[in-house]
Amino acid sequence: MTTTSAQPRPDVADLARRAAELEAADPLGSLADRFDLPDDGSVYLVGNSLGALPRAVAPAVADAVGRQWGRSLVAGWNTEGWWTAPLRVGDRVGELVGAAPGQVVVGDTTSVQLHKAHLALAAEARRRDPARRVVVADPGSFPTDLYVLASDARLAGLEVVLASPADVPAVLAERGAEVALVTLSQVDYRTGELWDLPGLTRAAHGAGALVLWDLCHSAGVVPADLDAHDVDCAVGCSYKFLNGGPGAPAWIYVARRLQDGFANPVPGWHSASQPFAMSPEYSPATDASVARTGTPPVISLLALEAALTAYDGVPVEAVRERSLSLTGFALEALDALVPEVDVVTPRARERRASALALRHPRAWGLSRALGARGVHGDFRAPDVVRWGVAPLYLAHADLLTAVVALREVLDGGEHLAAEAGERPTVT
Ligand SMILES: *Cc1c(COP(=O)(O)O)cnc(C)c1O
Repeated sequence: MTTTSAQPRPDVADLARRAAELEAADPLGSLADRFDLPDDGSVYLVGNSLGALPRAVAPAVADAVGRQWGRSLVAGWNTEGWWTAPLRVGDRVGELVGAAPGQVVVGDTTSVQLHKAHLALAAEARRRDPARRVVVADPGSFPTDLYVLASDARLAGLEVVLASPADVPAVLAERGAEVALVTLSQVDYRTGELWDLPGLTRAAHGAGALVLWDLCHSAGVVPADLDAHDVDCAVGCSYKFLNGGPGAPAWIYVARRLQDGFANPVPGWHSASQPFAMSPEYSPATDASVARTGTPPVISLLALEAALTAYDGVPVEAVRERSLSLTGFALEALDALVPEVDVVTPRARERRASALALRHPRAWGLSRALGARGVHGDFRAPDVVRWGVAPLYLAHADLLTAVVALREVLDGGEHLAAEAGERPTVT
């Protein structure tokens, strides 16, 4: 929001009234009572790194361990539905990313799911047209995406061409006939910028290439509508906005049309058409199970299944509207109270995901000083404080608390004193 000299900047009391109005007007409202949050007045802005604990998780894990494992023992694979859990939980994730049932499988890590998708999609593209050996990826991708892609490219003889999503259409115009795969993240994890998934998918398909979307920073907060946009494959973590807990298994979406013949490069026995035939000859499943590998982490899967009940009755479109209201209000408060901080995240609704990146030369000290006041964000080197905005359990008033703390830290020079501390290895 721009303020002019004719309109005095709102003060904290004005902003507090505005926060209350926006909260009252929000059709979804806060679902914080579905979460077990610290009650120490802290503000948790790291839900894009590790989502908070849904209340449904602890009893579900106690049941999974005590009753299911303890009493059912190995029979649990059938009687407790452990065997089918990757697809059952996958279908619930599918509802949040716009995938009809039978296309999402939960298991492994995002890094491993990326590996499967890169190689399977590249193989499919080259089966259609052997001349296609280029993979287009964003140089600003999360590091694991780039590391795995570089290794996959070596394994499969692919050439990686790096281009920001904004430049992908130009690359396709120039080299489209060589492109096998375009692989991008829907959200830039550093800046919270939201890319145009429908448009870039259309552009890739128009050039005859396949697409892979990484939804780690969007699943659960920004609709992806994978089926509607004809996406080929997508992957994502479930410990960020999906609140599945530390190390929760990741998920992969394989569009139904690509399942029969999906060349899973880690074709473990759970991906076979008849796992219990125990045949030495591999015969792949022709449904979404083809993307499975081996025995899944059942306790974590059941924790995730329980965590996803926090989304019961909540369409992701409503979460998106609440997210935009929260980040929009945070931007108003930042403009009013800390105009000297540079917000890197785009302001336009269609380019803003559910995080805010604040650039400041003393970002490390700011992040520490805010943490000492109970406002938890994270620091991204060299100069960004990142605030993840989890719409299910944050309220407009929480964002005002964070912005007021930022003003007070800057006024008191607390960030300068805090800079002296050691940088942690994990943030
Ligand atoms: C968080 C994140 C990952 C994490 O991958 P893991 O294998 O779960 O460690 C990968 N890619 C992106 C874009 C992420 O945001």
